[in-house]
Amino acid sequence: MSVEKDNKKRLFIGLITGTCLLLCAFLGLLWYVPYAGLDSFGAWATWSWGLFIFALIVLVGWAYAGLLINVILGKTHPFFQKARGLSIKLFLPLMTILGRVFGLSKRKIRGSFIKVNNELVLSEVGRFDPEKIMILTPHCLQASRCDMRLTYDIDNCKRCGLCTIKGLLELRDKYGVHFHVATGGTIARRLVVQNRPRMIIAIACERDLASGIQDTYPLPVYGVLNERPHGPCLDTQVSLIDVENALRRFLKEDKLPADADKNVGLTPLTGL
Ligand code: SF4
Repeated sequence: MSVEKDNKKRLFIGLITGTCLLLCAFLGLLWYVPYAGLDSFGAWATWSWGLFIFALIVLVGWAYAGLLINVILGKTHPFFQKARGLSIKLFLPLMTILGRVFGLSKRKIRGSFIKVNNELVLSEVGRFDPEKIMILTPHCLQASRCDMRLTYDIDNCKRCGLCTIKGLLELRDKYGVHFHVATGGTIARRLVVQNRPRMIIAIACERDLASGIQDTYPLPVYGVLNERPHGPCLDTQVSLIDVENALRRFLKEDKLPADADKNVGLTPLTGL
């Protein structure tokens, strides 16, 4: 595992630990404040309220422990099945606030979340038929000089090789999965409803991947970060090898083509 990937994981662990401590401190405060005023109802009121808050603290601690075990071991313990959901629904929003307080960029925080989300998806999710997998990309992957309209029909691409859409189409044809370009969240959601995939391999920047993962939960999304040599949202690229490796991991083994071990990603891009 690369040093960068390790750092992302460490950052995520640091942020969820801080978030969990903050949540527990907040819950403790919730107990303490009325404690002073609840005395007039009798001792039972203060202790009942204290027990309720204590149960909430145990719940947060349980969620944190489950997530930590998943992240460190890379395996889902049956006792902590909902780790990915908790990470997405509870910890990510709070982690983002905490990270910002400590001056971390949103990009860094989202990057660490995507890294951990991918590991949780790898540990939780099995293998699927090709028609149950969808590759979803933003339109900035298409060359800005290209006039073809791909949103409604990806086969409008002439496969000139000027951008990685050609390679992604080759991957679609080779593995038989769905492949679509979405110009925004609304179209992405419509594509998901129309195609009913069981899992998505999404290519995008940190911001779009993090929001896409949240939007589509509980549908598993494996994120592949795009590369932005020309800045954000312009002529972005993606490692076809990373996408193909993800396909090999999530496709049923008996549905893999005979030439699955040869990378489409090594096909030269003629237009670059
Ligand atoms: S491969 Fe060529 S035709 Fe296809 S989207 Fe890219 S630039 Fe357009």
